[in-house]
Amino acid sequence: MKKVSIVGGGIIGLCSAYYLAKEGYQVVVFDKSDMTDGCSYGNAGMIVPSHIIPMAQPGMIAQGMKWMFDSQSPFYVKPRLSYDLIKWGLQFYKHATPQHVEKSMPALRDLALLSKELFQDLDRENHSFFYEEKGLLMLYKTDKVAEEIQHEGKEAQRLGLEVDFLSKEGVSKLETGTRTDVIGGVHYKSDAHLYPQKFMQFIKEELKRMNVAVHSNTLVKDFRMQNNTISGIITDKGEFATDEVVLASGSWSPEIAKKLDINISILPGKGYSFTLNNRTDKPSIPSILCEGKVAVTPMSTDIRFGGTMEITHTNDLKINQNRLQGIVNSINDFYPDLKIDRPEEKDIWFGFRPCTPSGLPIIARDKKISNLVLATGHAMMGLSLAPATGKIVTEIISNKATSVNTQMFQL
Ligand SMILES: Cc1cc2nc3c(=O)[nH]c(=O)nc-3n(C[C@H](O)[C@H](O)[C@H](O)COP(=O)(O)OP(=O)(O)OC[C@H]3O[C@@H](n4cnc5c(N)ncnc54)[C@H](O)[C@@H]3O)c2cc1C
Repeated sequence: MKKVSIVGGGIIGLCSAYYLAKEGYQVVVFDKSDMTDGCSYGNAGMIVPSHIIPMAQPGMIAQGMKWMFDSQSPFYVKPRLSYDLIKWGLQFYKHATPQHVEKSMPALRDLALLSKELFQDLDRENHSFFYEEKGLLMLYKTDKVAEEIQHEGKEAQRLGLEVDFLSKEGVSKLETGTRTDVIGGVHYKSDAHLYPQKFMQFIKEELKRMNVAVHSNTLVKDFRMQNNTISGIITDKGEFATDEVVLASGSWSPEIAKKLDINISILPGKGYSFTLNNRTDKPSIPSILCEGKVAVTPMSTDIRFGGTMEITHTNDLKINQNRLQGIVNSINDFYPDLKIDRPEEKDIWFGFRPCTPSGLPIIARDKKISNLVLATGHAMMGLSLAPATGKIVTEIISNKATSVNTQMFQL
């Protein structure tokens, strides 16, 4: 059987490894980190068929400009003179049209629903990652945001998703874990959630069981080329021969792709989270506090809060306390009885979402290099879309028809 090398052991790389190994391929994963704390570990754990509208959408430019001048806002582009940032910004602007949104919605819906089915299958095998189907509650406090969120809910309904529109009282009836101070909410019944660290642990154990070689702390530096194919992966621990390659390196994909003369426009969207352990007084339904764009996820006995999107660079390792204060303020405004203090710096996690300017992931065979498949750019939906991506990567490598139409996911 062919040998497939995967560059990047985040959730996209590991789910690709899982479905490839199941299909009988000999799989090797390389990751430069120790694979314990990257973007795929501290995220909010939401599985979101509800998120059918890509980030590149009309209105986002004006809203983004307004937010850029607010130090606690949920979205921010760190201004800097960079060719990559200017190129990304221009492409984002080009994609922020109603036509792009209309074409993207069914493509994202199909990918997310396929992923949810695959999560259900995995959960049936093993419940160690706390998969639950309670839906997602979009909570709001202002008429303006209510209008936007209800409009999105109606679009989702039009595309066949099950959505409830709730009054203030309707929200209190559903969210019984703690009191909410909102004017209403939209409940997406299609959504689910899990505990990301536990899922990563589960998938690593599965890979071990299937004899997948996982090389952590191994930096991929370059590639050995033979005509138009990659014949070897050059790492800081030596060279490895290969038949097929999957590039699943998240926010680092552009720098690795450059070694192959491929241009991928992805910028990191830095986000933060913190987790409170063993809280009894906590929200029971995963929610997004819409005005602050804060994600709240109950996970087993814990609760995780996540938010902010700072378009930046992968060397930006500082914690921006103002953005964190924005998250804490939203929690206290929406859940008045919860009383959360700003966490200490050691308890704050951050990760880099790999954001494409189209707001869509790239899942495709490369046009120039015949044995290279790209699986990257999943932005705020990488966990949600990972099993479907892994399955499609496997189908592409096996030259089979893909389970969903991937036309919108080309480079
Ligand atoms: C605050 C926050 C909340 C989020 N909430 C959700 C959510 O609720 N639901 C959801 O679906 N998504 C969520 N996301 C997004 C999700 O976490 C990401 O989309 C996902 O983790 C991306 O996975 P990935 O495998 O593409 O990238 P990563 O997890 O970043 O993995 C890429 C890997 O490539 C490795 N690598 C890079 N360069 C090299 C190299 N040269 N050699 C070897 N290895 C290399 C890196 O070390 C890294 O481990 C959230 C993100 C954040 C920040």
